[in-house]
Amino acid sequence: MIHEILPVGPLQCNCSVIGDESTREAMVIDPGDDIEDVLAIVEKHQLKVKQIVITHAHIDHVGGAMKLRARTGAPILLNQNDYALLKMLDMQAAWLGMAPPGKVDIEGELAHDQTLRTGGLAANVLHTPGHTEGSVCLYFPAEKVLIAGDTLFARSIGRTDLPGGSYEKILSSLHARVMALPDETIVVPGHGPGTTIGEEREENPFLRRG
Ligand SMILES: [Zn+2]
Repeated sequence: MIHEILPVGPLQCNCSVIGDESTREAMVIDPGDDIEDVLAIVEKHQLKVKQIVITHAHIDHVGGAMKLRARTGAPILLNQNDYALLKMLDMQAAWLGMAPPGKVDIEGELAHDQTLRTGGLAANVLHTPGHTEGSVCLYFPAEKVLIAGDTLFARSIGRTDLPGGSYEKILSSLHARVMALPDETIVVPGHGPGTTIGEEREENPFLRRG
């Protein structure tokens, strides 16, 4: 599996380019901004982008999606519980002092337990509400890699004080769906450094028992 992680935009959202080494088909996850840099990675590996996957509808994760769609023709996928948040992108842009990205067209849903396939790669969609209602994580079982969006960070968890956030829901999503993954799972959070499920089980102050 080809996997490049590129922090994009002023909030340095971790955008992932994930490709199949034999078919050269790829998915791009969370193209928040800096689409020329994302496309440079795609071209470097001679990939063809088949899917644009959005972990949740915050502007730093979805802001560049339409630009990437225009350049690749790939459909944009989002969990339906974040459609309402997607309609507030201009307001999100104003809060952050960013240029409004305009309307984003969603062409496919990310439902819980769905398997997303690109070439020979397969990812399980985990619906993990809490940071937002429609937050999802993507788990690649063969490679034991988790793209965690803003649900789990190294030694922290996603904030829940924004519209649609819920502390109870993020904790139950984490315990029921994320921490159920094997300890050796490599976690790529939506911002900041990578970690593993095992490390977070031991060290994350929000997840330790007791
Ligand atoms: Zn977010």
